[in-house]
Amino acid sequence: MSDERNVIIVGSGPAGLTAAIYTARANLRPLVIEGEPSSTSDQPGGQLMLTTDVENYPGFPDGIMGPELMMNFRAQAERFGAEFLTEKVTKVDFSGRPFRVWVRDEEYVADSIIVSTGAQSLMLGLEAETRLLGHGLSTCATCDGFFFRGQNIAVVGGGDSAIEEATFLTKFADKVTIIHRRDELRASKIMQDRAFANDKIEFLWNHTVEDILGTDKVEGVSVTSTVDGTVSTLDVTGLFIAIGHRPNTDLFAGQLEMHDNGYLVTKPDSSYTNVDGVFACGDVQDSTYRQAITAAGSGCMAAIDAERWLEAQHD
Ligand code: NAP
Repeated sequence: MSDERNVIIVGSGPAGLTAAIYTARANLRPLVIEGEPSSTSDQPGGQLMLTTDVENYPGFPDGIMGPELMMNFRAQAERFGAEFLTEKVTKVDFSGRPFRVWVRDEEYVADSIIVSTGAQSLMLGLEAETRLLGHGLSTCATCDGFFFRGQNIAVVGGGDSAIEEATFLTKFADKVTIIHRRDELRASKIMQDRAFANDKIEFLWNHTVEDILGTDKVEGVSVTSTVDGTVSTLDVTGLFIAIGHRPNTDLFAGQLEMHDNGYLVTKPDSSYTNVDGVFACGDVQDSTYRQAITAAGSGCMAAIDAERWLEAQHD
């Protein structure tokens, strides 16, 4: 068993690394268990490691590449003494204090925990997704819509996310085709009406995405009809996948309170979970905003909450 820590941070996207910067500067010597490089769900640096240009992170007027931004976050945390373990947490026990966290057989203990394991966009499972993500293929219209000015693009999905993303994308694109596997939408009526009334949105009903075409950028989408199996090509230069998100919370099942959709519950206006001393920040507890800047902001909140909570325990 390793030394008892003040705080262990699980996950290293914008939320976890901001929490690391703040707790390190508060002399809490945080240990960040940052994830496993080979993984696409809990890789060090989080979802920004899978993106290219980030143009909406304040402070970078010319934009910055997602991985570079996260390397900067990490270097800043290291500068103040944060320690990093490039591994994946395999088990936790928050039933008593100190809290216990395992990486395979190795046990780590801490007085407080900050959970920042993030979320992942559900993907279609095509080989082309790995190749083209960030090169015309995106999972975030708010992040990448701007790059598709004047283009013909498509969105996959039929829920609120797909309709919201498609509607947002019409600010930039000339035409947005929503590819949906059924002939009716799951999205709420009001969102549907908005999409039906939008001249720039077209629907390709009863179709699934067979493949995404292009070697180093999206050049089209191969679609199959679920009615008669016909395969055709949609001539688009961008594709947004909006078939839902999944928070990375399996590790905490039965220990931390979750909403029905699996996101962690935090107390209003704070990062407190239902377990005193365990805090949550970033996408793992946010199904609404999902932005790097909001994640970073909530990481700062978690660090301050943890610092004050630890202080109160010592008092
Ligand atoms: P969702 O409601 O689960 O919808 C996912 C959509 O993707 C469904 O239409 C589904 O098709 C389709 N889909 C799933 N897997 C697929 C696959 N492998 N291939 C093709 N299509 C696939 O997810 P969501 O739209 O992300 O919404 C999640 C929650 O957030 C919902 O409760 C939603 O109301 C909420 N939300 C609200 C807002 C808002 O109010 N502004 C915005 C976004 C999200 P089927 O319909 O055939 O199952």
